Amino acid sequence: MLRYALRVGDDPLRDAIEEEFVVERDGWASERVQRVTERLQRDVPAANRLETLVVWLDDHNAFTAQGRTIYVSRRLLERLADDDAAAFVVAHELAHHRLGHIPDLPRSWLGVARMPLIWLQQRWITTSAREHDADQLAIELCIDAGYDPERCIAALEYLGQVSLDYGDVDGVLGPESGGGGRRSHPALQVRIAAVRDHLAAMRRGIRLPLDATIQRERRRRRVALAVASGAVGVVALLVLRRPSS
Ligand SMILES: [Zn+2]
Repeated sequence: MLRYALRVGDDPLRDAIEEEFVVERDGWASERVQRVTERLQRDVPAANRLETLVVWLDDHNAFTAQGRTIYVSRRLLERLADDDAAAFVVAHELAHHRLGHIPDLPRSWLGVARMPLIWLQQRWITTSAREHDADQLAIELCIDAGYDPERCIAALEYLGQVSLDYGDVDGVLGPESGGGGRRSHPALQVRIAAVRDHLAAMRRGIRLPLDATIQRERRRRRVALAVASGAVGVVALLVLRRPSS
């Protein structure tokens, strides 16, 4: 089994997760995510592959951040029936990287306030539009890797069962009012329907326009970073120009 040779300091946000939470490195859950992560990236040079860690979190979720690591909670893996469902979850996070959704923060920022930066990156990544695109590319990646699309889509159904277990009916069906509410993630039934639509489109030969999406995202990210650096610059200017008392 391929093991990655990441050193402490190569991936500062991953170091923060490893310091803060228990990471499970042996047993079926870790073997499952390693197996699917490698299969989904079988065409990617080893040096450019991402790695998936099984993390003991309270939530049933998966996320990623700047760096080369995907994090899947142990609790979520316990609810996924097979490799195909786990592959969809990992492929969705891989898709955020391939679609250019991950903000490229200056490396000097990553040495400080790492957990807040991870949280901020989640806020940036999980808009409705980005979640939709990541689901679409995820099903493409899964099919290309030979996974069964129905079993992959079942990952979203398992997530729906978890939401219902916790009484989050809106998270599955959408808000009763029909509006988007304050949620960044689309309702799970909407996500499932969109993935099924894309599956039908793929069968007609249509694929996600990956290059155009990446260019659009990178442009958006550059503008956001320019605005952020500009804001820091203005604050610095105001502080510097403040008359000394
Ligand atoms: Zn996502």
